[in-house]
Parts: sequence; structure tokens; C-alpha cells
Amino acid sequence: MKPAPFAYAKARTLDEAVALLGEHAESKILAGGQSLIATLNMRLSAPKLLVDINGIGGLSGISLKNGMVEIGALTRHAEAERSNVLAQHAPLLARAMPFIAHPAIRNRGTLGGSIAFADPAAELPACLLALGGEVDIAGPNGKRTVKADDFFKGLFETALGPRDVLTAIRVPAASKDTRVGFAELARRHGDYAIVGLAATATASGSGLKDVRLAYFGVGNTPVRAKKSETALVEGKIDDAVAALNLDPSDDVQATGAVKKHLAGVLLRRVAAQLMETSR
Ligand SMILES: Cc1cc2nc3c(=O)[nH]c(=O)nc-3n(C[C@H](O)[C@H](O)[C@H](O)COP(=O)(O)OP(=O)(O)OC[C@H]3O[C@@H](n4cnc5c(N)ncnc54)[C@H](O)[C@@H]3O)c2cc1C
Repeated sequence: MKPAPFAYAKARTLDEAVALLGEHAESKILAGGQSLIATLNMRLSAPKLLVDINGIGGLSGISLKNGMVEIGALTRHAEAERSNVLAQHAPLLARAMPFIAHPAIRNRGTLGGSIAFADPAAELPACLLALGGEVDIAGPNGKRTVKADDFFKGLFETALGPRDVLTAIRVPAASKDTRVGFAELARRHGDYAIVGLAATATASGSGLKDVRLAYFGVGNTPVRAKKSETALVEGKIDDAVAALNLDPSDDVQATGAVKKHLAGVLLRRVAAQLMETSR
């Protein structure tokens, strides 16, 4: 299928992008286009104006700042996958990157686009939540920062308003005590996950503290499994599996019951990763 007709504008500054987004009630930002163009071609969405943000300077790159790893919204998945800064200071993101789609898609798709799109089966929103990260946003009322815990609101719904541009994400840089875990089950490598789990913790003696478990593919948003987090801090893996407070719906990939079972399988794998001494 072909998309419905739309106008196109290339913004050169953030202010220009925000102004263009205000010109049409039905406008959409174009970043890597890897999700947006598919939805246009399938006529799942029919915006009147696409505002291309690829010409805006300063929205790309990965850096270490004040104990945080900052990633510009236009950073491509492929760049993140090869980043030494990410490998050293954000090992959960580095571990998740190869699971996102296929190389051709990772060459164009952006980290900002993935977080803004907020597909509930996507890897990066769950990683951002597990890491307790934050999102920088520029909009008609200026700039603001939103915590990951408050960013994902519902199915493909976030704290972004219709005239907002996500400009960067930030996650705490890993310390020597940081432990991370990541696993997903997909029909083929590169497909969206049936169920996935991103996790972080801090080593504490022979155990763990500050465990954060963020599932994807099991709800309308990435989902924290808070009771299981508590059980893992107590070192009780069977209790952690039993306490999984997930209620996934059936979808085209699996029934809710199968997803819940797989969530328990992944929890055991990820818990073992969290207990490894080297990250
Ligand atoms: C075949 C296929 C398989 C895929 N598999 C996976 C997978 O396994 N896991 C996964 O996570 N993803 C997967 N993807 C999606 C891919 O990761 C996309 O790159 C990503 O979801 C969107 O990034 P993008 O830069 O292409 O955004 P776009 O497609 O350009 O935009 C997506 C949406 O986000 C909005 N948006 C984009 N950037 C911003 C911004 N800076 N501020 C505000 N709004 C913005 C757009 O308006 C649009 O609504 C797959 C895609 C395809 C085509």
C-alpha cells in the first residue's frame, strides 16, 4: 500500500521543529522512519505534515556527563551498538542493542525514535525503565526532563505532547558494583520479543540490592515486577518467580498464559546474570 498524501518539512533547529509541529494539528516527527513509514504505508496513521528532525544539529552522540551516560535522540542504533562509552558505562544498553531488529533497520532507526514510539514489545523502553533513566524534551513551553518511571503512560502513549521533541535520554553510568541482566524470547533473532526482561541491581556482599526488573511484551507499557524485585533482594528466586505480578493478554505471538510462563523462565536466566561478578 501507499501512504495517504502528506506535506514534508525539514527543520534546522529545535525551535523550528516545535513551530512546524504547531502549524498542523495532525503532524508527526520523522526520525529514522523505521516505524513511522511502515505505519503510513499501512495507513495506520495519516498525518498531514511530516517534520523531519534529521537536519537539527546537536541531537546525536553518546557522552559521559556528571556520572550519567547521555544519548542524543538522533543517535542511530548502529552507532550505539558500536559505542565504547556504552559498552563501558551502560552495559545493559550495550547488551540489548543487538536484539533490536536487523542491521539495515539499526542503521537508520534512532534511540529517540524507539523511546518516543514506545512499542510495548521494544527493548529500549524497558532498558530505560530498568536503569531508572530520564528523558529530555523540548516543547512549546521550553525544556523539561521526565523520569522513565513517569514517561510511559499507555499503549504507544508517553509523556510527549503533540508538539514535543524528545532530545536526549540519560541513564546512570555503571559503577563496579552494578549488575545487569537481559534476555528475550523471540521467534527469530531480530523479531519483536514475545517476552523480554531488562534488569539492573547493585552487588551487596554475596547478594543484591536495588533490583529493578522491567519486562517488555507483557502489557501496554514496559512493566516493573516490584514484588519479584523484593524477593530477589532476599535471595529467593523461587519466591521471585511465584510473585510475578504480570497479567499479559493473548496476542498474535502467544497466549497470556504462555507469556507468563516464559516470564518466569526469563527471570531465572536474568537472575543468574545479575549474580555474575563481572558485568
Ligand atoms: C521489520 C522491523 C523490525 C523491527 N524490530 C524491532 C525490534 O525487534 N525491537 C525494537 O525495539 N524495534 C524494532 N523495530 C523498530 C525500530 O527500532 C525503529 O527504529 C524504532 O522503533 C523507531 O525509531 P525511528 O528513528 O525509526 O523512528 P520513526 O519511525 O521516525 O518514528 C517513530 C515514532 O516516534 C516519533 N518520534 C521519532 N523521533 C522522535 C523524537 N525525537 N521526538 C518525538 N517523537 C519522535 C515519530 O513521530 C513516530 O511517531 C523494527 C522495525 C522494523 C521495520
